[in-house]
Amino acid sequence: MQLNNSALWKTCSFINGEWVVSDSTYQIKNPANQEVIADVCEITSSQLEQAITTAQVALKPWQDKTVDERAALLRSWEQLILNNREDLAAIMTLEQGKPGSEAVGEVVYGAKYIEWYAEEARRINGAVLPVNQSGRRALVLSRPVGVVTAITPWNFPGAMILRKAAAALAAGCCFIVKPSELTPLSALALAELSHKAGIPAGVFNVVTGSNAQAIGEVLTMHPLVAKFSFTGSTPVGKKLLSQCAFTVKKTSMELGGNAPFIAFEDADISAVVKGIMGSKFRNAGQTCVCANRIFIHKSIFDEVVSLLKDKVESLIVGPGSRPDTHIGPLINSEAVEKVEGLVNLAIKDGARIVTGGKRVKGEGHFFQPTILTGITPEMEIFNREIFGPVASIIVFDNEQEVIQLANQTPFGLCSYAYTQNATRIWRLSEALDFGMVGINEGVLSNPSAPFGGVKESGLGREGGSWGINEYLETRYVCIGGIG
Ligand code: NAP
Repeated sequence: MQLNNSALWKTCSFINGEWVVSDSTYQIKNPANQEVIADVCEITSSQLEQAITTAQVALKPWQDKTVDERAALLRSWEQLILNNREDLAAIMTLEQGKPGSEAVGEVVYGAKYIEWYAEEARRINGAVLPVNQSGRRALVLSRPVGVVTAITPWNFPGAMILRKAAAALAAGCCFIVKPSELTPLSALALAELSHKAGIPAGVFNVVTGSNAQAIGEVLTMHPLVAKFSFTGSTPVGKKLLSQCAFTVKKTSMELGGNAPFIAFEDADISAVVKGIMGSKFRNAGQTCVCANRIFIHKSIFDEVVSLLKDKVESLIVGPGSRPDTHIGPLINSEAVEKVEGLVNLAIKDGARIVTGGKRVKGEGHFFQPTILTGITPEMEIFNREIFGPVASIIVFDNEQEVIQLANQTPFGLCSYAYTQNATRIWRLSEALDFGMVGINEGVLSNPSAPFGGVKESGLGREGGSWGINEYLETRYVCIGGIG
């Protein structure tokens, strides 16, 4: 692959402003053809320790900068990311598989968080409180939490890092991220651009390695780390949360989902089909907010399924590097096996294939865009996050029944509903037990809005003023003897 900016191709950890090599490496493979694309350094335990201690040293000078200085550095990072968007997208497609246009979209989306938080840094305020004794003054300060560590997944190798790092750096924290072992190259390219932007040594660090458990133990249990932020699956999040308990760290958890998508009898049918295509098939179905259970009212069921079939059958499956591709590969062979297993089990339990349903033969980890009908709440596919291009459809009859079924999950990340009825829109906004509710919208995320889930989908929010508060502590100061 030819990059316009070859400096973006980095293969070892970035710690305290330096590229840190080690003797041991592991391979990164292109999911579209399984070719080895890079050998990336395994971080050593002493390098990991160094990342945390140097980030701690970098805290004070970073916090001593004026908010204008911090905002200007963040804006120049954002600008460099945008200027290098084509290269960053090419690296992302190579290691993760998503189509080039989606990769560019992710780069721009991530950069928007930097822009937003560079501005929000100027609005970190405190308060002066009324007091109940003379001679006293009572203040509230917002203080950066300190050194932040993070672990991020492979499905959004850039944006899941920037959503966290932008808010953390704006708040005055130093940040160390371990990206997924499958997709470290995007993270390292972002580190190169942070360096070029002039973000000081120790403020933004990337550590790479294939032993997630060992690295994770240090990032969640080290006493100098004040806050841990995770995006990934619920089982791993639960484990990391328990590790954080040993030193009572502040935590944010962006975990798995099982999103319902409900189309009522009065919905705009073309909007429903567009919404399903956007929320289900983006990133080959590998997003936490993908519509996982699609409920269609019985009166519009046949029409929606028929229109959806035409759209799904027009999707082009192929390597993300090809300009006409809509559906890239799944991340690895395990992902294909999981999706195939869920589809086969659903068919055995009585589901019907409308289209697709099989892995694509040949090289790479491809699965056919699929529609299944006849799904019932007892089926495994109803209760698990599919994480593949499979639309599983349930027919329903009335509002109360569908709300109860939609909420019938331990997850609570995102939900979608399509209706033109204003009173129903209010009822759904309150009754759907999810951190995010999209009404007549299939793609919701936006830097000014709080992204995150309830129940087993997580703790905390990313985006907006809610996101920066995750990196701030509230400090009460009482000054006496004033007279
Ligand atoms: P995952 O298996 O939980 O992995 C996520 C990250 O955790 C990776 O960096 C992984 O490292 C690391 N990890 C795995 N086991 C670990 C351990 N024992 N200790 C420390 N770190 C560990 O999830 P995934 O398959 O990559 O990502 C998909 C999941 O993420 C889905 O459930 C999806 O819904 C969720 N997600 C949620 C959001 C959100 O905002 N709520 C956004 C995106 C994705 P290695 O890859 O190096 O093993």
